[in-house]
Amino acid sequence: MADPAGPPSRLVLATRNAGKIAELSRILDAAGFADGLAGLESFPGAPDVPETGLTFAENALLKARAIAAYTGLPAVADDSGLCVDALHGMPGVFSARWSGKHGDDKANLDLVLGQLSDVDARGAQFVCVAALVLPPEVHDAARREWTATGVLAGSLTRAPRGSNGFGYDPIFVPEGASLTTAELAPGKKDAISHRGRAFRALAPVIAAQVSQP
Ligand code: IMP
Repeated sequence: MADPAGPPSRLVLATRNAGKIAELSRILDAAGFADGLAGLESFPGAPDVPETGLTFAENALLKARAIAAYTGLPAVADDSGLCVDALHGMPGVFSARWSGKHGDDKANLDLVLGQLSDVDARGAQFVCVAALVLPPEVHDAARREWTATGVLAGSLTRAPRGSNGFGYDPIFVPEGASLTTAELAPGKKDAISHRGRAFRALAPVIAAQVSQP
């Protein structure tokens, strides 16, 4: 088992993304789970887990299982992406590497726009699955894993707009809105986002399963 640097943790968030750690802290705080949350920066030797699953749930569970096993602590992970109706749900789990280059947001977005250039059906969803996995040493295998899904439905523009956010935000307009998620203030996006919805759905399970001090 790995030794965390810093104060004792009760729950590990399987990401090095400070924004995700801050967002989950706020959501868990609201669910009455105030402290003991650590990110992977507290576990410098933690493995990088390849996202080899074919669904968001598989990838979120792969990451949470690996980090729960490594740290010996309950772990939360998420996987998310853009699902385009006219592309039969793609890029989906391939969202971060759709153009072939992992993390090249502009190339990924340009490729989706190109693929839809003569397509009028613009429907799309941002989807996130959040997973909680308890460490194998201390829990009954049958009651050790939970997932929750969050969806933000919307449509795709024909050209990028806005400079907030990341990924496909400049071409995604939530249902009932006129601004892209890259034109929304970050707090406004948090309130409706697929990630916020998935984490809020999982928060009561976390509060019930992870022991309070
Ligand atoms: P991950 O869940 O952090 O691995 O994100 C996978 C990919 O999905 C990102 O690299 C983005 O391309 C896309 N994505 C996920 N959530 C969002 C979002 O909120 N806005 C824009 N793109 C997103």
